[in-house]
Amino acid sequence: MPTLNDIRSTFLNYFAKQGHEIVPSSPLVPRNDPTLMFTNSGMVQFKNCFTGVESRDYKRATTAQKCVRAGGKHNDLDNVGYTARHHTFFEMLGNFSFGDYFKAEAIPFAWDLVTKHFDISPERLYTTVYHTDDEAYELWKKIGVPESRIIRIATSDNFWQMGPTGPCGPCTEIFFDHGEKFWGGPPGSPEEDGDRFIEIWNVVFMQNEQFEDGSMRALDMQSIDTGMGIERVAALLQGTNDNYATDLMRALIEASADATSSDPDGPGKTHHRVIADHLRSTSFLIADGVMPSNDGRGYVLRRIMRRAMRHAHMLGAKDPVMYRLVPALVRQMGAAYPELHRAQALIEETLKLEETRFKQTLDRGLKLLDDELVGLGEGAKLPGEAAFKLYDTYGFPLDLTQDALRERGREVDTEGFDKSMAEQKAKARAAWSGSGEAADLTLWYDIAEEKGATDFLGYDAETAEAQI
Ligand code: ATP
Ligand code: MG
Ligand code: MG
Ligand code: MG
Repeated sequence: MPTLNDIRSTFLNYFAKQGHEIVPSSPLVPRNDPTLMFTNSGMVQFKNCFTGVESRDYKRATTAQKCVRAGGKHNDLDNVGYTARHHTFFEMLGNFSFGDYFKAEAIPFAWDLVTKHFDISPERLYTTVYHTDDEAYELWKKIGVPESRIIRIATSDNFWQMGPTGPCGPCTEIFFDHGEKFWGGPPGSPEEDGDRFIEIWNVVFMQNEQFEDGSMRALDMQSIDTGMGIERVAALLQGTNDNYATDLMRALIEASADATSSDPDGPGKTHHRVIADHLRSTSFLIADGVMPSNDGRGYVLRRIMRRAMRHAHMLGAKDPVMYRLVPALVRQMGAAYPELHRAQALIEETLKLEETRFKQTLDRGLKLLDDELVGLGEGAKLPGEAAFKLYDTYGFPLDLTQDALRERGREVDTEGFDKSMAEQKAKARAAWSGSGEAADLTLWYDIAEEKGATDFLGYDAETAEAQI
């Protein structure tokens, strides 16, 4: 059974043999790209090669790219723990052509690798094409895919875009059918989001560029950008439809179970999955220079960290847990990503500090949350004011509260939350304007907002402790 590391080598070597340069993964923080929070796909580092702004000394490239999808156009944060196929951090394998080969070569490459080198049975495969793309349809037919398994899709699922702007184009996707024992339907059907039919590879025909004003131009050259999720392929080659049952993720889940003295497959199963996933995204983000903070990238990191910490808490952990799992991750991925080795001490310290601080308010916040739920009628949402108090006083990012409520089948009144937030801002401004120094004080308010109330509470809590 191939391991995840074997699959990475097979992919890269296959495309190297086809004349592709093996290019290292770029960092998770895109260089020179303010439009994107984190690298969310293999094409990000080549964005300018597609538009013709940049040229390199190769026209074909292949990569294993670190990706994070926890914000922006591709956001899978809420899927983690609930689907078998989504992570916040994952590795995307890709092959790229910059004005070199196009559809007629890219489709056979993908089919050859999947059916001959990964030995996946063609009977288990489905393909999709953009509804108007007759050329791609014919290419699949020619290769031998029965027409009943080439599905035309009219939605954005088959028109790939990195974000609101940038190179884009119609795409074709390859799906694997894990069989009747799993719930789900083929792409395009109402049950497509189940875990039976799983998309493993997306081949994009890069031929357009999207601009901020909504307009789109045809690119001068036609290029190829593909993305295959390594964890999904590992799952199917290891005989499961569940990414979390693959060798690498399982090792992290077991580390989480050990550290919390709990059963990896017991009632806390979802908690372990979320912890294993979030351990990867937080560690790789820190290794790439992101630190927890109260805005921008750092706040997304903090949200992911705190979410994982709540899940560890739900498993009964009294002391910080996350930092203790880092060695297991380094064992699994340190060889392919040496930056993990280099940053190991920093990752451990950062996780430990954040978890120590957050634990001071986590218990009290969760108690408040439970108290709030007691009197709520069936189906009623958690009042926005309560969610705001959790945010403002206890350092609970809104999505953490939502995640906690989802386990109980409840939602937050987000309008109410926004209203409380707006009221607090208005109050702060009003208070300052009375002092005759409105301009300066607004500036102060902005700093407070940036630093966040949680920092102040952390300070208070420490002071309070020192005083008793
Ligand atoms: P899905 O429809 O399953 O959410 P996608 O169409 O959003 O996937 P793409 O943007 O096409 O995904 O990314 C290319 C490939 O990367 C996918 O075919 C899949 O194998 C993998 N992939 C995408 N998102 C994730 C994720 N959150 N976790 C793991 N693998 C992923
Ligand atoms: Mg998706
Ligand atoms: Mg898709
Ligand atoms: Mg896709």
